[in-house]
Amino acid sequence: MTIKGRIHSMESCGTVDGPGIRFIVFTQGCPLRCQYCHNPDTWKMNDGTEITVDELIDEIVKYKSYMKFSGGGVTVSGGEPLLQPQFIKELFRRCQENGIHTALDTSGYVKLDIAKEVLEYTDLVLLDIKSYDPKVFQELTGVSNEPTLRLAQYLNTIHKPVWIRYVLVPHLTDDPALVEGLANFLKDFTNIKRIEVLPFHKMGEYKWKELGYEYKLWDTPTPTEKQVEEAVSIFEKYNLPVEGGKVKK
Ligand code: SF4
Repeated sequence: MTIKGRIHSMESCGTVDGPGIRFIVFTQGCPLRCQYCHNPDTWKMNDGTEITVDELIDEIVKYKSYMKFSGGGVTVSGGEPLLQPQFIKELFRRCQENGIHTALDTSGYVKLDIAKEVLEYTDLVLLDIKSYDPKVFQELTGVSNEPTLRLAQYLNTIHKPVWIRYVLVPHLTDDPALVEGLANFLKDFTNIKRIEVLPFHKMGEYKWKELGYEYKLWDTPTPTEKQVEEAVSIFEKYNLPVEGGKVKK
């Protein structure tokens, strides 16, 4: 049976979404509405392009030697990849069959049983925890953080390697008490390979305008290097393997 999915785009030589050089597949469709989203053009499930797993694998294997040489692989990002679990599961199964490392970049907003099927063929999870605080998470994304936190705990239980991603947004997620809350939640996890503090940037603001959406963060500044360092130091205090991203103006 040919399994099809809807994707927004592909990138053949990504270097920030997982280790090494990666083939990135951006899937179409997302149930969240993050205020800082830089890919709002991935939100609608019916946009994008339909593609079969066979077609995608044919494209991916062309880059196999780059991936192997650099310790890279395939990352599926979005949108929210777990909206298309059968498609991603089959894609990852085929990647692993070809000796290609698989990484899933997810918000975790999905029923655990659905995620479990895909995780069988996932080598690394890049889990975005937008806030540990339920109110802040709801305000920021429009949904609850319970599924995300449940998935985080499950990943620890099954010892699945994880990179945690935290976007630092001035006035929204930069309060030290919020960062501390997340660090405290994660402190006893044994599966975390990296925590990335990603400075908020506005590189996607123009897309909101083009799509006719109201961008609420138009007057929110990017964080300073010092603010990023402060957030990093909180995770360090809990002995978590953290690094700060570069501030983009
Ligand atoms: S989860 Fe990602 S794609 Fe979806 S709204 Fe949030 S930032 Fe955008």
